[in-house]
Amino acid sequence: MATSKAAVLTAFNAPLESRDLPLPDKLEPGAALVRTEMAGICGTDVHLWKGQLPITLPVIMGHETVGRIAQLGDGLERDWTGQPLKLGDRVTWNSAISCGQCFYCAEKKQPTRCPQRRAYGIGYRCDQPPHLLGGYAEFHYLRPRTTIFKLPDDLPTESVIGAGCGLLTAIHGIERTGIAWHDNVVVQGAGPVGIAALACAKSAGVAQVIVIGGPKHRLEMAKRFGADHVINIDDVREPKARLEAVRQLTGGYGADVVLECVGIPNAVVEGMELCRDGGKYLVLGHYCDAGPVMWNPHVITRKQLQVFGSWSSEPRHLKQALEFLRANRQAFPFHEMVSHRFTLDRANEALAMTANWQAAKSVFVPA
Ligand SMILES: [Zn+2]
Ligand SMILES: [Zn+2]
Repeated sequence: MATSKAAVLTAFNAPLESRDLPLPDKLEPGAALVRTEMAGICGTDVHLWKGQLPITLPVIMGHETVGRIAQLGDGLERDWTGQPLKLGDRVTWNSAISCGQCFYCAEKKQPTRCPQRRAYGIGYRCDQPPHLLGGYAEFHYLRPRTTIFKLPDDLPTESVIGAGCGLLTAIHGIERTGIAWHDNVVVQGAGPVGIAALACAKSAGVAQVIVIGGPKHRLEMAKRFGADHVINIDDVREPKARLEAVRQLTGGYGADVVLECVGIPNAVVEGMELCRDGGKYLVLGHYCDAGPVMWNPHVITRKQLQVFGSWSSEPRHLKQALEFLRANRQAFPFHEMVSHRFTLDRANEALAMTANWQAAKSVFVPA
C-alpha cells in the first residue's frame, strides 16, 4: 500500500510522532491529492500543540500549505478563479470549507461563522480516511469543494507561505474595519498578523503606521515592511508612556484606526485608549481564548469608538492576498519571512522554534 509520511499530534504538549498514513486508493469526485511543497508553521499550531484550542486528536497540523497536484478527482477541472487545473500545477487553498447553505453562509453572509466549517490542520482526525488533511505531511488530500488557487509562475512559494494565514486574517479584518488613505494607524503586535496588517495599511496609502511590539528582530522586520515608527515594548514598558508616544505622533489626538494583532487581553485595554475620539478599533489577535480582563466599557461610549471583530478568512481574501503578494514583492518582502526550513523528521525542533519566537517563520519542506 502506498503511504505518506506525516508528523502527527497525538497528545497535547508531547512530541509529534512520525507516522506513515495510507494514500487514498481512489479520489472522491471533486477531490484532489497534492504533494506538499512547503507547509508553514503558524502560531496557532503552537496553541494547538499546547491544547489551548478544543480539537480532537490525532491531527496532522498545518493550515498554510503549497503543493503540486498529484491526482485529480472526477469533475475537478478548474480552480476558484476559473483557471484550468492539471497534474503538476502548483496550488494553494483555503484551509477551511464552509457549507454555503446555512443561516450564516447563505442568509447573513458570514461564512467564516458557518457551524459546519472545519479547517485543515485543525479540525480533522488523521486516524480516519482520507487521513491526510493537514500540511505537515508529504501528501495532502483536498476534499471536494476546497477552494483551490493555481499559483502564477512568478509568485514564489516562499511569498505565499511567508505571508501565511496572517495575511488573509489581516485582509479580512481590515476589510471589515475600513481604512482610509489619510488615516493614522497603530498596529499592536509585530508577529505575522501584525506585519501583514502593516503591509495592508501601507499599501492603502495611509498617513503613517506606528507599530508597537517586540522583540527587536520583529520590529526590524516591521521597518523593512515600511513602518513609519516602531515602539519597542521592552524599551517603553508602561502603557501610559506608549499612549503618550502615540499621541505625540498623531498631533495629540491618538490614532484613527488601531489594529490589535497581539492576542493578550491587556493589549485590548491599552489599544482602545490609543484610539482618537470617534476612532476605530479592531480586535484581530484573539483567535485563542486568552481569558478575561478588567476593563471599563466607558471608554467606548466616551470616545464614541467603533469596535470590530474578524474571524479567519474567506476565499476572496486568499485571491486578494495572492494578487497583493504578486504585485508587491519589493515593498513587502514576505518571502524573507521564511527563515528556517525543516524536514518532517525534525518536526519537534521546528515547532519548538516557533513556540520560542526564535524564527520569523519556520516551514516544512517534506521532500
Ligand atoms: Zn494560522
Ligand atoms: Zn454554512
